Amino acid sequence: MSSPTAHTWTNWGGNQTCRPAEVAVPRDVDELRATLARSHARGIPVKAVGSGHSFTPVAATDGVQVRLDHLTGITSVDPAARRVTVAAGTPLHVLNPALQVLGLALPNLGDIDQQTIGGAIATGTHGSGLRRQGIAAAVSGLTIALADGGLLRCSADTEPDVFGAARVGLGALGVVTEVELQCVPAFRIHAREFSADLTDVLATVAADVEGHDHVDMHWFPHTTRVLVKHNDDVGPDHAGRALPPWRARLDDDLLANDFFEVVNRASTRWPRIVPRLAQLTARTLSAREFTDDSWKVFCSPRRVRFREMEYAVPLGSVGPVVTALRSWIDSHDVSLPFPVELRFTGADDVWFSTAYERDNAYVAVHQYHRMDDGGVFAAFEAIAAEHAGRPHWGKLHTLGAERLRELYPRFDDFRMVRDRLDPDRTFTSEHVRHLLGD
Ligand SMILES: Cc1cc2nc3c(=O)[nH]c(=O)nc-3n(C[C@H](O)[C@H](O)[C@H](O)COP(=O)(O)OP(=O)(O)OC[C@H]3O[C@@H](n4cnc5c(N)ncnc54)[C@H](O)[C@@H]3O)c2cc1C
Repeated sequence: MSSPTAHTWTNWGGNQTCRPAEVAVPRDVDELRATLARSHARGIPVKAVGSGHSFTPVAATDGVQVRLDHLTGITSVDPAARRVTVAAGTPLHVLNPALQVLGLALPNLGDIDQQTIGGAIATGTHGSGLRRQGIAAAVSGLTIALADGGLLRCSADTEPDVFGAARVGLGALGVVTEVELQCVPAFRIHAREFSADLTDVLATVAADVEGHDHVDMHWFPHTTRVLVKHNDDVGPDHAGRALPPWRARLDDDLLANDFFEVVNRASTRWPRIVPRLAQLTARTLSAREFTDDSWKVFCSPRRVRFREMEYAVPLGSVGPVVTALRSWIDSHDVSLPFPVELRFTGADDVWFSTAYERDNAYVAVHQYHRMDDGGVFAAFEAIAAEHAGRPHWGKLHTLGAERLRELYPRFDDFRMVRDRLDPDRTFTSEHVRHLLGD
């Protein structure tokens, strides 16, 4: 169903807005195909949007905005192969418990579950774990609605080039209608979280990421404190206990969200107190140990709004990048109440994955949404550039086609697939043109 509206769309971070000429919320795939064919015939651009959790304008359009609110749920299951087919508009917070009922799970997840599966894979959403990959690497097949309304199915065997390009497709090839996911048996995670010193953490980071299934670190700028999370897969029947509900509520709701919002509002008002507040925040996050279902450990509520830039750098560059960033922060008049997050993933074969043929460390800089970044994003981007940093497609960056071609060996192959699938550039936008060069 399409409705011409004078509607202003805003992303989660509040830093991107657009005014689509039309919003289409198709009730099924046939209605989506009709919308595409009509828009194509009229020469109006089309952009699918997920949950709007990208910080870049990658989901913005002044043409037809397609929302897949009605294309949700698991549509088929192959229990023997542990594969499920999922409608692309399914939010991860719906998908994860539905997989659990089937005795299945995604091998890895990021730290929230608000994204749609179509949106999460389109920008290369990832979690942490050197022996794991981003969510798009778990995709074993896709169905894409093309500009003329035709449907194209791809996998490693059928249309392998489209499969190489479309798993992290930036919404630039078509509207993904279904995603086939290679799952693993449902598993639990034993989580151990503790505070450590930044110098010690960087000295042992290589052994740490080798020694644990998922390592996630939060360094509080203006301090030397790091909250380290060691998460290890322990199978479905591990007897360890989940956090008692009062502790989960205290840590994840009150401290990580309500109290942290107060800290950030105070930081906005009195930026000079940020170093002292950062010490306090780092101290409130005390050690804890628990075991729970994988998706419950990976994902937490994030209600404090922020802006984020994240770069993937080769694994060995994490120490030099964090050291350079720390030295820039310490020598500039900048206040950063949010932690810098460090994560790690193994290489994959997805053309536009930040981990394409490379083991990565991810360094993510955040700033509270009401505060100026004080130049830290530009400084961090320059540091990452010295280490062949590949930007997260959904997080702030300024790179365009010229530099992206140097960073992604399959850049021109992606463009060739796009020329074939979308010769009339129905799925383009100003941002996509900047990224892809036309
Ligand atoms: C609080 C927060 C936490 C986050 N945590 C993580 C994290 O842990 N790890 C990580 O890697 N990233 C993380 N992100 C980034 C986020 O995962 C990505 O930006 C993701 O793309 C957002 O998904 P979405 O459904 O909101 O998609 P949107 O942001 O709405 O869209 C993203 C892209 O997907 C395209 N798209 C959406 N649906 C389709 C479809 N059906 N077919 C074709 N293209 C489509 C859009 O056109 C657009 O190009 C986080 C973001 C926020 C705000």
